[in-house]
Amino acid sequence: MVGILAPLGMVVVCSLMLLDLRRDAWDRAEQTSRNLLQVIERDIDRNVEIIDLALRAVVENMALPGLETLEPQFRQRILFDRAVNAKDLGVMLVLDENGDTAFDAAAWPARRVNNAERVYFQAHKARADLGLYISQPLVSQLTGAPIIVLSRRIDKPDGSFGGVVLGSLSLSYFSRLFDRIELGRAGTINLFLHDGTRIVRYPEPNAELAPNFATSPNVQRFLRDGRGSFVGLTPSDSIERLYTFTQVGTLPLMLNVALSTREIEAEWRLKALVIGCIVLALCGTTMGLSLLVGGELRRRNAVEAELAQLSRTDVLTALPNRRHFEETFGRLWAAARLAGGPLALLVVDADHFKRYNDRHGHAVGDLVLQALAGALSASARRPSDLVARVGGEEFAVLLPGTDAPGAAIVARAVHEAVAGLAVEAEGGDIGPITVSIGLAAGLPLEGGSPGDLFRRADAALYEAKSLGRNRTCPAQSGDEPISHAQAPVPVAAT
Ligand code: GH3
Ligand code: MG
Ligand code: MG
Repeated sequence: MVGILAPLGMVVVCSLMLLDLRRDAWDRAEQTSRNLLQVIERDIDRNVEIIDLALRAVVENMALPGLETLEPQFRQRILFDRAVNAKDLGVMLVLDENGDTAFDAAAWPARRVNNAERVYFQAHKARADLGLYISQPLVSQLTGAPIIVLSRRIDKPDGSFGGVVLGSLSLSYFSRLFDRIELGRAGTINLFLHDGTRIVRYPEPNAELAPNFATSPNVQRFLRDGRGSFVGLTPSDSIERLYTFTQVGTLPLMLNVALSTREIEAEWRLKALVIGCIVLALCGTTMGLSLLVGGELRRRNAVEAELAQLSRTDVLTALPNRRHFEETFGRLWAAARLAGGPLALLVVDADHFKRYNDRHGHAVGDLVLQALAGALSASARRPSDLVARVGGEEFAVLLPGTDAPGAAIVARAVHEAVAGLAVEAEGGDIGPITVSIGLAAGLPLEGGSPGDLFRRADAALYEAKSLGRNRTCPAQSGDEPISHAQAPVPVAAT
């Protein structure tokens, strides 16, 4: 039992420990994701803010009184005075109300393009209160590079649409930023616009310029919750990932870092495998050994039980021997005293047994003893009765719950059974066999003992012998209340 429980306990403890280690791995991954997200979010937010400050400055400068009276070169300098330091800023242009370039931070005269068809231009034209507008990824007309455009509306003094100031942020800025981050092989970083357009995906770039994922459940969850984390499947590659996501400052941008759950658990898996194998091997060995030991113990117990049984059994007749008889006698005596019931004892001795030995040999004597054992067992048939061989040709029959008249009936049955025995010797039948029986019965009393009962039965046996054998004599009355058997049982056939 211990051999099974101990390994089971070991398995349970080990499983709990492994679960704990797994929790640790996940906690670490979640913490790492949150830290990464924070670093990236701050960088993007700061850069957008710097560009936006430059855009605001241009909007303010456009409203300066007397600006149009200046020389064009000065006008350009004053307009873009705060833009020069904007890091990661691509082109910076002022478009007039027709979408033509009016000013260009990098060149005078301005490089000529028309952006009237761009969505951001149309948006500002339609609404005066858009503030900072972040465009979907698009290809720059001037540089041919993929960019996003940050723009603000310029109002004419009368409040009507006067054009747009824009700054472009190259998508390569994001790649440079994400390149510094160690994400594992299946980790990704994604930046979405609030309309579900993916601006960048790292490490693999977008397959098309501005794919839209507004219908993806994952993206819907980013946009709905604003900040948080969950485990989900990436539809494009069917890899399960831990998504940690956040809104970028107050911008309409949603950033997420996704780590593969396999990679999160990789180190733990290896540990679990090694520890699991070791523990299982140990448990297997322990169980195997305990089964072996258990089997050996059972075998020994069985052998011991058999030996104990043999030590209580008479080899010749297979009846309980004297030792067994004495043990049982003590027990039955105590039980009868407790229950207040009677106990009867017959001491049975073969008559002139010596003659069989002398006339026919010891082997025939043995046969007679075996036949007597059979006759006695057949006569005392209650399961609680005990027939034992207590000496050479002497037997005892213990009859619990039986008084003297009941015992006399058993004694008579013994005489009859013995009279019916026929044992063959070389010269033919050995002739009639008889026994003498001493009968004692009574209620076991406080102060009395099994020995007393036996002595009385033995004395009665002596009397039966002296009265001529082949009979039963009841014991003489003692002090104890014994209900006596009838006078000597009539002699059976001689
Ligand atoms: P009585 O009627 O007075 O009892 O006479 P008896 O011959 O039966 O009694 P006694 O005590 O003189 O003899 C008993 C004999 O039983 C002596 C012994 O050799 C014999 N005997 C004892 N044990 C065994 C045994 O296991 N096998 C055989 N064959 N004989 C035994
Ligand atoms: Mg005898
Ligand atoms: Mg004898």
